[in-house]
Amino acid sequence: MNSLKTLSMSVLIGSGLLATSCNNPSENKEATTVKAGITKADWGETDSSKVYLYTLTNAKGTEVKITNYGGIVTSFVTADKAGNKSSIVIGFDSLSGYLAKPPYFGALIGRYGNRIGDAKFTLDGKEHKLAANNGKNALHGGLKGFDKVVWNATTVSDTIPSLTLTYLSKDGEEGYPGNLKVIVQYTLTEDNELKIEYNATTDKATPVNLTNHSYFNLTGDVNNTILNHSLMIDADNYTPVDTSLIPTGEIKPVKGTPFDFTTAKPIGRDIDSVPGGYDHNWVLNSKDGSLQKVAVLSDSVSGRSLEVYTTEPGLQFYTGNFLDGKFINRDGKAINLHTALCMETQHFPDSPNKPNFPSTILQPGQQYHTETIYKVVLNK
Ligand code: BGC
Repeated sequence: MNSLKTLSMSVLIGSGLLATSCNNPSENKEATTVKAGITKADWGETDSSKVYLYTLTNAKGTEVKITNYGGIVTSFVTADKAGNKSSIVIGFDSLSGYLAKPPYFGALIGRYGNRIGDAKFTLDGKEHKLAANNGKNALHGGLKGFDKVVWNATTVSDTIPSLTLTYLSKDGEEGYPGNLKVIVQYTLTEDNELKIEYNATTDKATPVNLTNHSYFNLTGDVNNTILNHSLMIDADNYTPVDTSLIPTGEIKPVKGTPFDFTTAKPIGRDIDSVPGGYDHNWVLNSKDGSLQKVAVLSDSVSGRSLEVYTTEPGLQFYTGNFLDGKFINRDGKAINLHTALCMETQHFPDSPNKPNFPSTILQPGQQYHTETIYKVVLNK
């Protein structure tokens, strides 16, 4: 696969503890500073494992909260052009919110992001059956994907705060072959970048497609939809889907269609011509697996833009078409249709069944390595 590179992991070092208080009453727990720019608070327990909430802060006052349950980014607080701070991702302030199974809010997704058609694939002549958790298809790793497991967490900080999450997905878990060792590193830089590095190795050939499922609303207020946000995606092609959202296998030009975001346009401009809203994979123009800017999302009211950089060949742009008010955001407001959107960097959906798509098969001895950056920029 084209995103394989040599892995260079930082050496993980132990922690020195210093007490500070946690501002958020709903977390109701004391946070301790574990490294420069990182605090850690108890966040409950599930599956007999302790869950923590880590807060990464940079000198600009940008703050990212991540839990080792599902590797979920629960909040990403940045200033708007008036200096007011709010989270540009939706989420909850308690573990119980996430245990109620929201649709992957902020989570790490694996072993295979997005859908695998008919919940099966054949690899080296052997058919592998997966749980059908989305109609007849498999979605986002299965019934208990990487978004619903407790990861082991280690904090790293020289000058920039970073959180390393590891998880061993056992041979046969959710139907996938091979013991897959996964390491995901989240880093918050001084340039307001949330950098995510995904690494994995396996002992049997297996499909791997890791991503993050943050739902963004750059206004920081889910009373506003994302239809007035403007979006540019550097992609001349996309992968059309059938009625169950499985790619047909075609790669079609966006030119002259509602899928053309090559020049920035408001998301709401053509959305009504796409039945159900946008929920498709764009075939990014970047070709060589190097880290490149692939999308820019902007909101003129807050003055925030979000630049997306990735080594991946695809981007799933999803306009929150299944959000229906059932889940309540941390500020008490209902998360309704189109009030947040996802830009999931990835390989293409259903690649294990689509020989013409870039391969997602990781072989023993190979190193899976991809990188994605979400960078917040203020336009005053
Ligand atoms: C998928 C959507 C799905 C959403 C939440 C997205 O990645 O493309 O179809 O509804 O995740 O599960």
